[in-house]
Amino acid sequence: MDFTLSDKAERIRGAIRNFVDARLIPLEQDRASYDAHENINLGLLAELRQEARAQGLWALNMPIARGGGGLSLSEIAPCYEEMNRSIFGPVVFNAAAPDDGNMRVLEQVATEHQKRVFLQPIVDGTVQSAFAMTEPEGCGSDPSLTYTTATRTNTGWKIHGRKWFITGAEAAKHFIVIARTSDDERKGLSAFLFHADQPGWSIVRRIPIMGPEEHGGHCEILFDGLEIPEDNLLMNVGDGLKLTQIRLGPARLTHCMRWTGLARRALEIATDHIETRASFGARLADHESVQGLVGSAAMEIQIGRLLTMHAAWKLDQGDFARKEVSMAKVVVADALHKSVDTALQLLGARGYSKDTVVEWMYRYARQARLVDGASEVHRMVLANTLRREGTAFFAWGA
Ligand SMILES: Cc1cc2nc3c(=O)[nH]c(=O)nc-3n(C[C@H](O)[C@H](O)[C@H](O)COP(=O)(O)OP(=O)(O)OC[C@H]3O[C@@H](n4cnc5c(N)ncnc54)[C@H](O)[C@@H]3O)c2cc1C
Repeated sequence: MDFTLSDKAERIRGAIRNFVDARLIPLEQDRASYDAHENINLGLLAELRQEARAQGLWALNMPIARGGGGLSLSEIAPCYEEMNRSIFGPVVFNAAAPDDGNMRVLEQVATEHQKRVFLQPIVDGTVQSAFAMTEPEGCGSDPSLTYTTATRTNTGWKIHGRKWFITGAEAAKHFIVIARTSDDERKGLSAFLFHADQPGWSIVRRIPIMGPEEHGGHCEILFDGLEIPEDNLLMNVGDGLKLTQIRLGPARLTHCMRWTGLARRALEIATDHIETRASFGARLADHESVQGLVGSAAMEIQIGRLLTMHAAWKLDQGDFARKEVSMAKVVVADALHKSVDTALQLLGARGYSKDTVVEWMYRYARQARLVDGASEVHRMVLANTLRREGTAFFAWGA
């Protein structure tokens, strides 16, 4: 078993680390770097994106021919981890959710026409995208509760219904929406593409949340007759759930990669602090109970990144890696909490202030146990897989 990174992955990882240290982390302390929703301001973002792209650190999960980095998921893992050592990182390198997951699924399943019209501009960074699945009174953990409908017209489809928590919707131009096309249990949902300028849909509100927001916020949206031409059906009628599964495995895992970086950064801030801060005649770092906190947070980060890397490797072998992704998602979400909470605690009152980015991370981290599948649902999936597979659950190999 060899955990060595490929030369290419190691080179890009190192370049991202240098970029994050030199260009991004210093900006975090300056209030002028932020927009009104606690994200990087758009002017600064445009400049930094240009720099990242010029250095070949752009859309790493896309093929080189499309302008991306052409890396496998196992190669992406250490790179995304480095990116999110800064809270500004992923969006600068065009590796933030939901664009990251949308690009990957479109590259995998879209027609050439759909790729040219809907995918390429996301890769180029000229538009943002959104993925609309969750509903206020319906689909959340359980997609069978999807009530938004797509009904046939002479030229395509007409959408009616309501979605919410749609990340980026206020700024996005390219949307993927999941809607019901029949009552069939497995084949009842379909996926469609649409452009924000099309009539027949609107933003009801940008939902206020406890944490900082992605550009375009998290929105509730209403469909009241959005017309979608047949060309913009993704895959086949009835493949909505399949598309969601294809998208969500890698998308969940890239969350884990980014969150691992965020967790590591929180711990870096804490370990710097405890080396210098003294109490009761010793540096904090020399108190055994402090060592216990830091040691277990570091250990949990490492457990999470090993699970992430294993799932990435399985996905690279062509496996859906469902149980591996579920395990990584639960463990990394908890490791992120643990690490950020530990950092906040060890910084004392300073940790509760806005003098460091730890309080930003603390508010952000709470969503990790909810988005892309609540931890309880992933545990349910794991238990059901164990019942079905028995000893094969623990089999080695691809
Ligand atoms: C910041 C943020 C961004 C998001 N972005 C998007 C987006 O871009 N697009 C999109 O479509 N959605 C998005 N979502 C929605 C997200 O995917 C859902 O919130 C998530 O799938 C959970 O669904 P729900 O909120 O309806 O919770 P519910 O399904 O109502 O579940 C509520 C709680 O019940 C428990 N629970 C549910 N089922 C089970 C079970 N079987 N066993 C045990 N416990 C269970 C869990 O504790 C769960 O947290 C976002 C959410 C947030 C918070």
